[in-house]
Amino acid sequence: MPYSEAVDSRVLLRRLRDALAEGGGGQERLDRIVRLIATGLVAEVCSVYLRREDQWLELCATEGLKAESVHQTRLKIGQGLVGRIAESAEPINTRDAPSTRGFRYMPETGEEVYASFLGVPIQRLGEVLGVLVVQNRDHREYTDDEVYALEVIAMVLAEMAELGAFVGPGPMAIAAQHRLPFYARGLVGQEGVAEGRVLLHEPQFVVTNPISDDPIREYARLHAAIERLREEVDEMLAADYLTASGEHRDVLQAYRMFAQDKGWVRRMEASIDSGLAAEVAVEKEQSATRTRMSRVSDPYLRERLHDLDDLANRLLRLLAGVDQTLGREIPDDAILVARNIGPAELLDYGRKLKGVVLEEGSVGSHAAIVARALAIPLVIQAERITREAQNGDHILVDGDQGVVHLRPEDGVARAFREKIEMLADAQQAYAALRDRPATSRDGVTLQLHMNAGLMADLPSLPKCGAIGVGLFRTELQFLVRSTVPKRRDLAALYARILDAAGEKPVVFRTLDIGSDKVLPYMKRQDEPNPALGWRAIRVGLDRPGIMRMQIQALLRGANGRPLTVMYPFVADLGEFEAARELTLREAARECALGHPPPAELRIGAMLETPSLAFAPDRFFQLVDFVSVGGNDLKQFFFAADRENERVRRRYDTLSLSFLAFLEGVVARCAAHGATLSFCGEDAGRPLEALALAAIGFRQLSMRPASIGPVKALIRQIDIAEAKAAIHQARAAGAPSARPALDALLRREGFSA
Ligand code: PEP
Ligand code: MG
Repeated sequence: MPYSEAVDSRVLLRRLRDALAEGGGGQERLDRIVRLIATGLVAEVCSVYLRREDQWLELCATEGLKAESVHQTRLKIGQGLVGRIAESAEPINTRDAPSTRGFRYMPETGEEVYASFLGVPIQRLGEVLGVLVVQNRDHREYTDDEVYALEVIAMVLAEMAELGAFVGPGPMAIAAQHRLPFYARGLVGQEGVAEGRVLLHEPQFVVTNPISDDPIREYARLHAAIERLREEVDEMLAADYLTASGEHRDVLQAYRMFAQDKGWVRRMEASIDSGLAAEVAVEKEQSATRTRMSRVSDPYLRERLHDLDDLANRLLRLLAGVDQTLGREIPDDAILVARNIGPAELLDYGRKLKGVVLEEGSVGSHAAIVARALAIPLVIQAERITREAQNGDHILVDGDQGVVHLRPEDGVARAFREKIEMLADAQQAYAALRDRPATSRDGVTLQLHMNAGLMADLPSLPKCGAIGVGLFRTELQFLVRSTVPKRRDLAALYARILDAAGEKPVVFRTLDIGSDKVLPYMKRQDEPNPALGWRAIRVGLDRPGIMRMQIQALLRGANGRPLTVMYPFVADLGEFEAARELTLREAARECALGHPPPAELRIGAMLETPSLAFAPDRFFQLVDFVSVGGNDLKQFFFAADRENERVRRRYDTLSLSFLAFLEGVVARCAAHGATLSFCGEDAGRPLEALALAAIGFRQLSMRPASIGPVKALIRQIDIAEAKAAIHQARAAGAPSARPALDALLRREGFSA
């Protein structure tokens, strides 16, 4: 059979467009298309396999294979040549299909008579939606031109599938992409549950006209957009706050390199030559990048591929001529879905969001810190979520379990709503306790404080029934800016916080940076072990400029009112003495400058390293109060990274060795009259809070939503009984107090 010398994909695409424009349902369209491609490529067979459920491909239309096999023949991803193409997102071109690795004979199709086989993935933005195949009887070698033409056609099919061009009607209806329920199991970033509608941080572009007759015009559009892109990157590089070295600059340099890359531009031009619109040419490149990304395990290379992907997104935005993220209405029930998001961007959305789902992110990332501060449920590492979610999709976020249901079935949504209602009922019950003390049945009163990090947290203070703010994390104001905040602005913020708190005390923790919290304007230190590195008070003492400025801002913000300051991550007496001296010196200096001295200045330290528990007596005499930062303390006590999913839940807070250590801290504080509190996440877990009370803690600080549950439990229990349960567990040689405390709660009628 004479084959076409050179395939003119432009002619083929034009015919394809006409075929798509004709009426009829999805099946009719597909049938027309396979006929047309078979004729255009002089192939005896042309078949389209589409992805149905997650792991299955179904033969949805064919010219040349047996008609009865349509909607009957199914292959698993990875099975047979078609399945291999879907798995690898790479074409297979062979003159002898039966002897090609992975070939799987499907008798119902009658394909045994066809020797040569060419299949390409139908993919959009790196997501394989199906496979397009042509076959011939002869041992034919498909040319590079033919492979390319088939890839271009597959690109158009993917765009049309996204637009729903192949949907129904009829029982064999071809499912449109992104209409089926999707479930993702990620990790807990911030607890809480929410139901709402997807708001994509980076909205996807729907290309309504993927085929173009006018390559000259598309060239001009592409080049104008690339020109603008290069200017944008140069402008960003020139922006003065980025002139310092650092991570941002590396990213921008990579952007610039890619934006100037001739190969990248040439490949997009070739796609336009073959008849695609400029947007689809960019998407074709983006698909290739994403396929590469899924195979690369080297974190550095992956990041660079992400940069290239981001650049393609920018280019698409420029081609569309509008910034689709600007001036967007945020609906009332928005749940933000993003690959990742910076803390400043997340703060911009603020409390308008009901939840956040990230494809990446880590527990300690800045975005997670902001979500925690805003008390918005957050699920991180939800695989594929940005590919699956469409703006406006119905979505359920379970931040307690780290689970996301996208486009859920009715039954799932109903069960979820019941859970939300139960939680709301419980919240109402807690609200009734708001003004009651956290006093146990045997008369022990705990002081429950809340943790905060933003001005926006302060309205929670009267609502949740906290006695005060036991930990105000001050780093957020430093993290979300591109330059060091001004003393004047910080002082004004601290003043507003104290105004909002009224008579209730606020404990300001000085800047806790380093480790995972890297300031955008500070040179990143390459440290082999950042959690054990140059962080928190160590940075404050070595570079006292920022610390002094912050202390001055705190003193000015207090403006004669009582002020409470504590330092993070103090490891020994010397560090505490130095920080305290610096603070007292600043107080004297401010006074000399005419600012009113604070009515009372209380200075405390966070106990986050085991070493401080064994500091000389002088530390406990000098310090006004000690606050146990259980998140860090636990990671150092057990040598288990708090951000490493493999180990972070491995050791129990209620382990009797950890409790014994904490009892030592309680005893030393008591011996020297230092007030003691606990402000790690564990303080907000009712059973853990009970154990802490049983070993002698009388002040706990936790996220506002935990105050109710902790108070409700404490009010219905005897602390002495909890203490006895812990003693008995220890006497019996148990490794943890958890079973004993669980049993106590069960006896008391709690379901625990
Ligand atoms: C802690 O370590 O327990 C703590 C409260 O501080 P952060 O979580 O901010 O490190
Ligand atoms: Mg800490």
